[in-house]
Amino acid sequence: MAVLVLADHDLGTLSPATARVVHAVAELGPIDVLVLGEGIDQVATDAAGIAGVARVLVGQGADFTGDFADAIVPLLQTLSANYQHIVSAAGSVGRDVMPRLAARLDLMPVTDVVAVLGPNRFERPIYAGNAVQTVTANQPKQVLTIRASAFRAAASGNAAPIEPVPHQPVASAARVIAAHRTESDSPDLATAQIVVGGGVSVGSAEGFQLIEQLAKKLGAAIGATRAAVDAGYAPNDWQVGQTGKIIAPDLYIAIGISGALQHLAGIQGAKKIVAINSDAEAPLVKLADVALIGDLFTIIPELIAELDKL
Ligand code: FAD
Repeated sequence: MAVLVLADHDLGTLSPATARVVHAVAELGPIDVLVLGEGIDQVATDAAGIAGVARVLVGQGADFTGDFADAIVPLLQTLSANYQHIVSAAGSVGRDVMPRLAARLDLMPVTDVVAVLGPNRFERPIYAGNAVQTVTANQPKQVLTIRASAFRAAASGNAAPIEPVPHQPVASAARVIAAHRTESDSPDLATAQIVVGGGVSVGSAEGFQLIEQLAKKLGAAIGATRAAVDAGYAPNDWQVGQTGKIIAPDLYIAIGISGALQHLAGIQGAKKIVAINSDAEAPLVKLADVALIGDLFTIIPELIAELDKL
């Protein structure tokens, strides 16, 4: 009943999502983590440090750079013979790789898992997060993508053995032409413990600097509504919601955000919500644990000034 977790990594750094995925499947059996790519020694060492990991399997090769599914799936298919569960985070790689693997294995993939109830029972959100479906998948193996933000990270301090995994290189039909990256020193939005989100009412990209200042004081990641992104006030990768990132922080501070259904779909895992809004009737105000009713341009500087005193 072993479990194979496909590690998520970028630029030689293991994504925090991997430790969360390991925690999610910890009860299902001994866990091997598969690390694929080039220059991944540190990634493998970090994966071996996650509590609960039995082994780290390393597939070195240029064919894995770019994370293309057509290069990854054949190896996963070969390895799958030894595993009951083949799992990844529900990120861009997992969403690409796991359905293809499931098709090759003639299995139904169970995607976006937010709770593992047993070896073949899982919960996943449906209807843009408005309902939770319990899936019982009676099939010989399970191919899963896990919504990492729904789980705590497994602890560190392990030193699992690291083993090479031989493979036949597969030339992908795709190639990377360019990668455009956003430099940021704030935490990863999808796994941050505190998120400060701004809406279109922030009014401008300069106005968003106020949101950024507050986020920095709190060590928080920055989120935005689609309306704010569409208006050009915030970059695309800050968008939270149905067509943006799914977040599950301990604290979400929603500033000038009405609480449209498509935004709420992305914040349902938030443990506590603070809404700052001039409209006491806004849906997000009604949903929030704490609401501050007033003008964000007054309240945020006051909050920052109070935090400066700490
Ligand atoms: P608004 O709804 O305009 O709300 C602004 C809020 O700011 C109001 O509550 C107002 O009272 C408050 N306000 C105004 N001035 C102040 C002030 N000075 N101080 C304090 N409060 C103030 N949206 C997402 O966020 N994420 C998604 O992933 C997403 N996906 C979508 C997918 C589809 C297919 C569609 C159709 C829509 C999607 N949307 C998404 C858009 C969504 O429907 C809403 O339009 C959007 O979330 C609204 O953003 P907002 O809260 O910033 O703006």
